Amino acid sequence: MPDTPSYGFDTLQIHAGARPDPATGARQTPIYQTTAYVFRDAEHAAALFNLQEVGFIYSRLTNPTVAVLQERMATLEGGAGAVCCSSGHAAQIMALFPLMGPGLNVVASTRLYGGTVTQFSQTIKRFGWSARFVDTDDLDAVKAAIDDDTRAIFCESIANPGGYVTDLDAMAKIADEAGLPLIVDNTSATPYLCRPIEHGATLVVHSLTKFLTGNGTVTGGVIVDSGKFDWAASGKFPSLSEAEPAYHGLKFAETFGPLAFTFHGIAVGLRDLGMTLNPQAAHYTLLGIETLSLRMQRHVENAVKVATWLENDPRVESVTYAGLPSSPYHARVASICPRGAGALFTFALKGGFDACVRLVDNVEIFSHVANLGDTRSLIIHSASTTHRQLTPEQQVAAGAAPNVVRLSIGIEDADDLIADLDQALGKAVAQAA
Ligand SMILES: *Cc1c(COP(=O)(O)O)cnc(C)c1O
Repeated sequence: MPDTPSYGFDTLQIHAGARPDPATGARQTPIYQTTAYVFRDAEHAAALFNLQEVGFIYSRLTNPTVAVLQERMATLEGGAGAVCCSSGHAAQIMALFPLMGPGLNVVASTRLYGGTVTQFSQTIKRFGWSARFVDTDDLDAVKAAIDDDTRAIFCESIANPGGYVTDLDAMAKIADEAGLPLIVDNTSATPYLCRPIEHGATLVVHSLTKFLTGNGTVTGGVIVDSGKFDWAASGKFPSLSEAEPAYHGLKFAETFGPLAFTFHGIAVGLRDLGMTLNPQAAHYTLLGIETLSLRMQRHVENAVKVATWLENDPRVESVTYAGLPSSPYHARVASICPRGAGALFTFALKGGFDACVRLVDNVEIFSHVANLGDTRSLIIHSASTTHRQLTPEQQVAAGAAPNVVRLSIGIEDADDLIADLDQALGKAVAQAA
């Protein structure tokens, strides 16, 4: 199918990037379970290695199944190109890798996935990079955090898990004025609920692991490039604008224009960092994306029902879901993610830490796991699991206070989910009394 942007989301989520297999006519995208590809002749091989011709050499860099997923994600996000990689965390490193260097920094939102906070506050220091965390609702603080060594601004569209929606337009304006790329983690929203490039994002990163694959079978990631950033304008991004010694002095920005970041991600990032997505995982993710819009509609519908029920329950202290009219971010939902605020939120129990532990021990439909974005409803008590290494003060700051439970609402019957929480809350509170 020609990639015509005039097709609707539901059509593109099934067809974008995929064609009947040229060799066999297979309608579903085959899993090209191969490591290498036979060159037509020595000249063909040389052209591929010089990046003069696009094709398949070795599956650490490119694979036909993965390529379909890349094109589908680029289309759904409205980007110029995409690079898949082995996890959401790999996508974050791969997104920063061409921009950063020793002594350089990224200005990042304080409201990020817990694993990203650890990656940015601890692990990237080993590369000589650093992150400056700021409250992205305080625009002056964001501006003040930017200095000559800043190379990107990083935030999440709907921030996991605290029901926070980022004002992407405001972030993009600040990034623009500073000549910096804006990187948005769109994992919790998916391109069905939010399209960050339309709000000015330069790069969009995802964990494919969550709603995109959608059923808890895959670990994967992707970076979508808007193709709109001028990497050569400021001289701050030499990996993209200056001569690359490993490719005979080729300059990515000059040679590939809007696809510079994508080509660099494959030809240098995947080649040397090796964080490659395997074709099986790409296949499962493609299957998942075919039903993305249907699932997200139901995820959102169920999340609204469950959050509304919890908010009105006397055993519950508070609910942080941006889809509720009581949320301070409810108005932002209309401009940033008009189809809904996603399916992740937290709620606080009046019974404290002990009641939360009994709640997760007594649910029957909800699964107690450290994951989100599954067809199944999931629950976790962060303070006793993912955030247990933090001090109580840090737990509160991270939206994971001792009396807070996180839900990822699945696509089961909402009435069954509510009944399950009702009976488990009954046990949690009865035992406390
Ligand atoms: C899960 C997640 C990640 C990390 O993705 P992995 O695939 O687990 O590496 C990053 N950001 C957000 C918002 C996530 O939910």
